[in-house]
Amino acid sequence: MHPGDEYRRTSAEEWQEFEEHFDKRRIELGSCGRPYGTPCQHEHACIRCPMLNVNPKMLDRLNEIEADLLVRRERAEAEGWIGEIEGIDLTLTFLRSKRDEAQRLARRMTVDLGIPTARPDAKGQVPR
Ligand code: SF4
Repeated sequence: MHPGDEYRRTSAEEWQEFEEHFDKRRIELGSCGRPYGTPCQHEHACIRCPMLNVNPKMLDRLNEIEADLLVRRERAEAEGWIGEIEGIDLTLTFLRSKRDEAQRLARRMTVDLGIPTARPDAKGQVPR
C-alpha cells in the first residue's frame, strides 16, 4: 500500500535466496509449509511433522512406506524391541492421518471462479 519509491530494489542475492527457500520446501511427499527464512526443525521427519502437505499424487508412496513400516513392526515384535514398536506405531498414526487428509483433498471438487477483473470507476478509468 506504500508508494513504490519507498521500497528499495531487491538485490540479486536476496531474490535468489527467496527462490531457494521455496525450492527447498519441495519434498518427496509434497510440500513443506514452514515459514520463509526458517530451517527444518524436525530433522526431516516429515511424516510426523504438521508442516507436511501431502500431494495426493504421492498416495501410492505413502502406501509403500506404510507396508515397509508394518514389516519393520513385525521384526520389532519378533525381537522384543518395545521402544521401536512404540516409535513405529506413532509414525503409522501420523502416516494414516496424512493419507486420510490427502484422500479428502483428492476427492474435493474444484470450481472455476474465473479471472478477477476491475470495474471502471465513474470517470471510466480502470483502477490499477
Ligand atoms: S520435517 Fe516438517 S519442517 Fe522439516 S522438511 Fe519435513 S515437513 Fe518441513
